[in-house]
Amino acid sequence: MLSVAHQLRRMRQATRANPGVIATMQAHRLQNLVRCAYDHVRYYRQLFDEAGIDPSTIRKVSDLSRIPISRKSDLQAAGAEVISSQAFSPQHCVIEKTSGSSGAPFEIRFDRHFVAVRNAMFLRAMGAAGYRLGQRMMLISGTQPRQRRWPTPWLYVPFDDSPAAMLEKLNRFRPQVLYGWVTPLRQLAEHVREHNLPGAHQPRAVVTTAEPLDGPTHALLGEALGAEVFEIFGLTEMGAMAWECSRHDGLHLAQDVVIAERVEGRLVLTNLLLRAMPLLRYDCGDLVEQFPPMEMCACGCTFAKLPRVEGRQVDCVRLADGRVLSPYSLTLAMEKVTALQRYQVIQSALGRLEVHYVPQPGSSDAEPEIRAALAALLGEQASIEVIKRSTLDPPPGRKFRVVECRCRS
Ligand SMILES: [Zn+2]
Repeated sequence: MLSVAHQLRRMRQATRANPGVIATMQAHRLQNLVRCAYDHVRYYRQLFDEAGIDPSTIRKVSDLSRIPISRKSDLQAAGAEVISSQAFSPQHCVIEKTSGSSGAPFEIRFDRHFVAVRNAMFLRAMGAAGYRLGQRMMLISGTQPRQRRWPTPWLYVPFDDSPAAMLEKLNRFRPQVLYGWVTPLRQLAEHVREHNLPGAHQPRAVVTTAEPLDGPTHALLGEALGAEVFEIFGLTEMGAMAWECSRHDGLHLAQDVVIAERVEGRLVLTNLLLRAMPLLRYDCGDLVEQFPPMEMCACGCTFAKLPRVEGRQVDCVRLADGRVLSPYSLTLAMEKVTALQRYQVIQSALGRLEVHYVPQPGSSDAEPEIRAALAALLGEQASIEVIKRSTLDPPPGRKFRVVECRCRS
């Protein structure tokens, strides 16, 4: 296996390739992917056979549109049939759960090669913000530190640390780059601004992820933390698939790993390198704006831009004690609950949450597990109502929000 530094160097070079070279690379990877999916994954074999598609006729990106789209629920329902029969021994696979913005917990299996690719994708995206291997990075998120194969001076800070505790760590660790979810970063920046702390450490760059970055928050982060602000768009299933470049004019799409399509307004993704559980024309549940015409970016990267993704419709939750929770702290807690097919958390009033859920077929009452998971996060005094439903769809004409705040602020 390639070292991370080597992998990263190759992936960085790809961002400078001319569009013809990228198209050839995509076609080659797509052919391999389709062959592996058809030969080793029962779900795709059946999908192709039923649609009457000969896998050898899928030769370039424009052929993709013949393949039926798979929604998360299709893959969930297929269970083990979406997993490759190729010998990926357990120690060479990583299983991760994601619910992202869709409110439908989903288990994905990554082979070791893709884990290495995903690490390199993250480093490449961070590199656009000026990060270099060996530099100090502070990461504020819900991700547990994973064992890495190369030494990293990285400090992981839990998203639910108090702003004062985060600042203390920032000042002590003095990272070149600060990376994290939008909500805890905003809380940290507000803390610095409110207390007028001129001595606070100023990282070179702040990189946000997981939640949409609005204009006022972008400005606040830049001013309070004295840093250049960048955004990354990542999905567990795909890795850091788009990143903001030095020109701050949109996000470049990792075209060497991910093919993104817009189908009836929805973002449909193909992961060219994941083999243990191929994702081929996968409807990730997000909405996306029109793709802009291809234009050379002044930063020198030749990868196309990903338009604004609108599907990540999530709200922050305000607690009675004044805390503001990132929606992702709630989805992370809900991912620990087993046997949920779909869920939604609605804040109906300050300190009051409703959890609507659809159980997986044949599973028992999930209420005690949901209560335990949320009590650990919110404290005992929060009022939680748990409602079992047979379906969970957004009201007509509205987008589904996995975490929705309905109280007036
Ligand atoms: Zn650029």
